[in-house]
Amino acid sequence: MKLALVVPCYNEEEVLEDTTKQLCELFDQLHKKGKIDEESYILFVNDGSKDQTWNLISKFNEQEKWVAGLNLAANVGHQNALYAGLMTAYKNVDATISIDADLQDDINVIENMIDEFNKGNDIVYGVRNDRTSDSFFKRFTAQSFYKLMTVMGVKSVYNHADFRLMSARAVEQLGNYKERNLFLRGMVPLIGYNTSCVYYARKERMAGESKYPLKKMLSFAFDGITSFSVKPITMISWIGILVVFISICAMIYTLIGHFLGNTVSGWSSLMISIWFLGGVQLLSIGVIGQYIGKTYVEVKERPRYNIDVLLESKSVGKEND
Ligand code: UDP
Ligand code: MG
Repeated sequence: MKLALVVPCYNEEEVLEDTTKQLCELFDQLHKKGKIDEESYILFVNDGSKDQTWNLISKFNEQEKWVAGLNLAANVGHQNALYAGLMTAYKNVDATISIDADLQDDINVIENMIDEFNKGNDIVYGVRNDRTSDSFFKRFTAQSFYKLMTVMGVKSVYNHADFRLMSARAVEQLGNYKERNLFLRGMVPLIGYNTSCVYYARKERMAGESKYPLKKMLSFAFDGITSFSVKPITMISWIGILVVFISICAMIYTLIGHFLGNTVSGWSSLMISIWFLGGVQLLSIGVIGQYIGKTYVEVKERPRYNIDVLLESKSVGKEND
């Protein structure tokens, strides 16, 4: 089979050399075993890096036969960069595999993914069954994230990040999902087809820093929920109903107090209710605003990415000459 490995890279100069070496060795092995064709390639997508990443990619494109490079015109974020890579790659291969540039995901299961593909699965998820290498904080936030997603009714594969195999036709289908706000691990399960999982332990980042600091992680989680579920709006309605119920009880209580003659000044209860209701209203408006904001972003239908240069790998380039 023809395989394209898609690797989004943002300021990854520190890990790129090592990553390229490991991936090329893997491709050599897979090729020797007859698992992948000569025309397979590793597509590094440079997501508008500010460091030497693109220079390194072009250098490896010269030196290594498996390496191809895609330079995006600006930084568009992990999900969009990955999407750009998949859309560029799927047309001339049988399947794509996406993986992060820091190789925190175990590249040895790629062979298992290919086997699963050959068994007739269109989508194969890489699932971490061990997170001991992650910090307690990362583990905790990640776990809360998956739990919250389930509570909110978003279907996603537990402990699966964006390490996955997709057949060419699955990627083609993905192209029909028109939303701008990409959350691939929520979208891919919607495609359907036969799917399966392979399991691995996640390693530590080789070098460089995580590009997902807390702030980005939170906004990613928020996107994941609000792009896939309207439960938050439903929840607000329930909170509203609860507040009305409480107010009625309080009203009855106050009225009884009034008719029994022990009228207090009522200042504190008044203040509390004003603040409480104000809070609930602000919260509701905020959540509704999030959805309106999303609609605004979606109706603009801006392009997800702009391509600057595509360097084909030697293995593919040879074919076209
Ligand atoms: N990445 C990207 N564009 C960005 C941020 C990140 O292409 O704007 C890439 C990054 O180079 C890496 C992957 O997305 O290959 C995942 O990032 P990272 O490893 O920092 O995230 P973590 O593993 O800490 O969640
Ligand atoms: Mg990482």
